[in-house]
Formats: sequence, C-alpha cells, structure tokens
Amino acid sequence: MAATLFDTSAMEKPRILILGGTTEARELASRLADDVRYDTAISLAGRTADPKPQPVKARIGGFGGADGLAHFLRDENIALLIDATHPFAARISHNATEAAQRTSTKVLALRRPQWQLEPGDRWTPVESVAEAVHALGPIPRRVFLAIGRQEAFHFETAPEHSYVIRSVDPVTPPLRLPDQEAILATGPFAEADEAALLENRKIDVIVAKNSGGSATYGKIAAARRLGIEVVMVERRKPADVPAVGTCDEALDLIAHWLAPA
Ligand code: NAP
Repeated sequence: MAATLFDTSAMEKPRILILGGTTEARELASRLADDVRYDTAISLAGRTADPKPQPVKARIGGFGGADGLAHFLRDENIALLIDATHPFAARISHNATEAAQRTSTKVLALRRPQWQLEPGDRWTPVESVAEAVHALGPIPRRVFLAIGRQEAFHFETAPEHSYVIRSVDPVTPPLRLPDQEAILATGPFAEADEAALLENRKIDVIVAKNSGGSATYGKIAAARRLGIEVVMVERRKPADVPAVGTCDEALDLIAHWLAPA
C-alpha cells in the first residue's frame, strides 16, 4: 500500500484534510495541529515557489481532478474535507464538492467574507479579469495590477496602459507589455505602505479581486483615501456546500460534526 500522509498508529482519530493555499487555511491548520481529537493534514497546489512552512503534515500538487480527489478521500478514509482555498480558486472548490458528494465525505467551506463597498470607495465591479481589461477604457492609464500572476496575461490586449504588477512569484511567461514594472512581494500589506506605493507610482486605477480578509485590504483603504478607482473583480465560487467565514466558526462545526457518537 502507498505511504499515507496520516498517522497509522491513530486510526481511530477522524482524519481531516484541509485544502489550503490561504492564510485562513494555515491558521485553521495551526489551531487543529495540537488538537489530539483529530489527525489533520493540508494539501497545497504547489504554485508558490517558496511556500511558508505548514503547521501540519502537507501534501503538494494536484489530485487529478474530482476523480483523483475522490480516490484520495476514499483511500485515506477522510472524515472531513475542508475547502479553505482562495475565494478565486474555483476549480478546486468545484472538485471538492463533487468528490465529497461521490464519496459521502462531510465537507465544509471556510470562506472569508468579501469586502463591502464603503462611503468614498470608487469601485467598478466586473465579473472577470477579462472584463476588467475592458473596464480600463481606451485612454492610457497608470494601472496597479494586484490580481496575482495567473490571469495577468489578459492585460496584454491593452498595451496602451502603464502597469505596476505585484505578485508573490514572477509572472511567467513574461508579459508582452511595453510599459510594466514588476513588484515581487508577499502580504500582509499595510495601508500606509500601499498609499505610498500608489502615490509614488502615480497610479490612477487599481485592478483587484474581491478576496476579502485583512492582508490585502490596505490597497482598498488607501484607494478610498486617495480617491483612486478600483476595478473590482467579483467572486464566482460555487455556494453549494456548508460554509463559514472564520476559523472559530469552523472549529465549532468540526467539534459538532466529528464528536464521538
Ligand atoms: P484552481 O484554478 O481552482 O485549481 C486548479 C487546479 O489546481 C485544481 O484543479 C487542482 O488540480 C489544483 N489545486 C488547487 N488547489 C489545490 C490544493 N489546495 N491542493 C491540491 N491541488 C490543488 O486554483 P488556482 O486559482 O490555480 O489556485 C491554486 C492554489 O493557490 C489554491 O490552493 C488557492 O487556495 C491558492 N491561491 C489562489 C489565488 C487566486 O487568486 N486564484 C490566490 C491566492 C492563493 P487537480 O485538478 O489536479 O486536483
């Protein structure tokens, strides 16, 4: 039999698998790490070149679609699957729902609440990154692109703008854009630093995803203060599993669902 991620000497403990890649997933993992009632592991896609250490056992890489994840859940006898992936990672969430359904595994989504419009905000809501490109309009602008690297390629169709592009790892392949500056950085980002960046680079529009959470909210608060427009990509996650917004709520439900009969 293939090596298991879990503790084979503790077979009676319910096994929890967290689908991670977010701050909340790490936080939940660290709070479950020392809980002797459960055997917890985390799964990462492996996108980040230098991921932060995880507080529980970790596996890295895709499962091979919903089929692969269903096999994993069955083979590893997972009692609870927690989808704590990023609000914009739609495919893995879809796979999680389907695999859990097929294997009758309990599933819970941990989704941070999205940011809400506040007085002074100048948001232009869009449904996708492709739509965000059009929302920039035809007149050249100075754009702060803060959507991560995976979908940055869409902006190659709008080379008339100047871009400051921030991501954790470099955008690959490099973007074919005549005027671009890459900033490699990992959050959290403070509002004061974000305001300085926006002013120094003379940014007049930000493209952001409505990710929620505090780590990347600084740019939104700074934009409000400086009167800068934010083209805000709205979420499109499936809403077909029980979901909670905080680690505390998740821990309560876990205790309730996995309590010994
Ligand atoms: P995605 O489009 O929903 O998923 C693409 C594929 O990546 C999935 O089908 C799955 O491959 C694999 N995958 C994703 N998350 C995984 C996980 N936690 N463990 C194992 N495999 C995983 O996801 P994405 O947008 O590429 O994001 C990848 C990861 O980065 C996610 O875990 C997410 O939490 C994190 N992240 C995403 C964003 C964002 O803006 N999208 C931002 C910050 C962090 P198989 O089909 O082969 O299983």
